[in-house]
Amino acid sequence: MTATVNMPVGKSWLICPGCRALLYQRRVERNLGVCPECDHHDQVTAHQRIEQLFDLDSVEELPPVGAFGDPLGFVDTVPYPQRIEAARRRTGLDEAVVCVRGTVEGQPLIAAVMDFRFLGGSLGTGVGERITRAAELALETRTPLLIVSASGGARMQEGVLSLMQMAKTSAALGALDEAGVLTISLVSDPTYGGVAASFATLCDVILAEPGARLGFAGPRVIQQTLRQPLPAGFQTAEYLFARGMLDDLVPRSNLRSTIGRLLAFTGADRSAPDPYPVRATAAPESADPWAVVALSRDLGRPSTLDYIGHFVDGFVELHGDRLASDCPAIVGGVGLIDGRPTVVIGHQKGHTVAEVASRNFGMATPAGYRKAARLMRLAEKLGTPIVTLIDTPGAYHGISAEENGQALAIADNIRMMAGLTVPVVAIVTGEGGSGGALALGVGNRVLMLANATYSVISPEGCAAILWNDSGRADEAAAQLKLQAGDLLALGIVDGVVPEPPGGAPADPGATASAVHRAVVDALAELAGLNREEVRAHRRARFRQIGGLTNAGG
Ligand SMILES: [Zn+2]
Repeated sequence: MTATVNMPVGKSWLICPGCRALLYQRRVERNLGVCPECDHHDQVTAHQRIEQLFDLDSVEELPPVGAFGDPLGFVDTVPYPQRIEAARRRTGLDEAVVCVRGTVEGQPLIAAVMDFRFLGGSLGTGVGERITRAAELALETRTPLLIVSASGGARMQEGVLSLMQMAKTSAALGALDEAGVLTISLVSDPTYGGVAASFATLCDVILAEPGARLGFAGPRVIQQTLRQPLPAGFQTAEYLFARGMLDDLVPRSNLRSTIGRLLAFTGADRSAPDPYPVRATAAPESADPWAVVALSRDLGRPSTLDYIGHFVDGFVELHGDRLASDCPAIVGGVGLIDGRPTVVIGHQKGHTVAEVASRNFGMATPAGYRKAARLMRLAEKLGTPIVTLIDTPGAYHGISAEENGQALAIADNIRMMAGLTVPVVAIVTGEGGSGGALALGVGNRVLMLANATYSVISPEGCAAILWNDSGRADEAAAQLKLQAGDLLALGIVDGVVPEPPGGAPADPGATASAVHRAVVDALAELAGLNREEVRAHRRARFRQIGGLTNAGG
């Protein structure tokens, strides 16, 4: 592993390991340990990290933990107890983690912050015990838990006892999952081995600092095994973010506010919203189906990110499926709607050709549906409602999508949504294209904008299959009954959200306000149900569609 720590030069100057610039130490400190020239994020001590994140004077250290000693009687060049003693003298810490409670932007938080200076942040029994106790306190007090990782991995001098700390800490995080307590991991440079393969990657939200390296095996070991050069940027946060492993890359200067918003989300008022006095449910004006198809595809319509910007406060976008990639055609995250926590997920298209292309025309890959599923499971864990915004021509149907299990990803979402015990409000805001739409569409309430469409197949596809002539798409559009009024009559949607005169593109702000009102109304309607009733309600809603009655023979 290459050196990444600033090299002191004299008393007050440093050389940046990122750009080799000679920097005035105080200038780097004022910049939170980040190089002002190249943005290299240098390691910080546990106490510096705590000071950077927490509210002034809010921090209290958790009670001390007794020493476990030297169970193996391990001697490398010196006996293990001497090595520990030297680390304690050098760092002023008693172990490689500091555990505290306090507040961040006024919101309570328990944090376990690792310090790489203490035997490379290695995970021994002392570290495992402290992190587990911090998790247990988080459970007892129902306070969110933050773990800041910086570690080379397990501590060899404690042998297999060290290995078992992975199980102990993971079990403690599992208990927080069952109890619905938010966990946040902040990956700092470097995070490897047993720490990476336990608490650093098991939290609900995984943030990483730019340039931080995260991996199971170290690059030298991999290179020696493979005998070939590793890809550029291998194991860096940027590399892993692109592969769906991290929720976000957060520069150090933004960490406090990002964590503050996540805490505000979990700490917010969970009482039922008050419905707006005017119900946003109305029958749409009838219009030519083919004209409505064109309106539903208009790039001037508000996108999911526009709706989020309009009525979701403190939104934190979460990325990645933790498996393969971050699909740009589906966006999602957490935020507040009228002060109440909500998970919001939707297809994202955009307004310009370049933007729409970069979002794959709102056609999600399996990674997109798996990201959505991950966020819905987070909502289920935390007991927060889900709002989905649907606008897709359909799921992506390329070779890679099939190879990565597109059908299963969609099926899994449909089943998972049916079983959720938190309220789900789904709104078709543009194109409701087939299974790719339904994979976000299994709601207790399903609404549509007046000029949106929802269909089993595109009119062009239908015409091509039935009449071998996609030019007859206008006829197919009429046959498919894909307009809001038809779908309301068929019981597929529960309400139609009116669009302003001239349609959504004519007044995106008014459209977003109407969607906002409809969402709050629908959530208020569902607020009287307990969690089991929410699930039963949703299952019954879909059970009765096309169900034949036995009455009357
Ligand atoms: Zn630099």
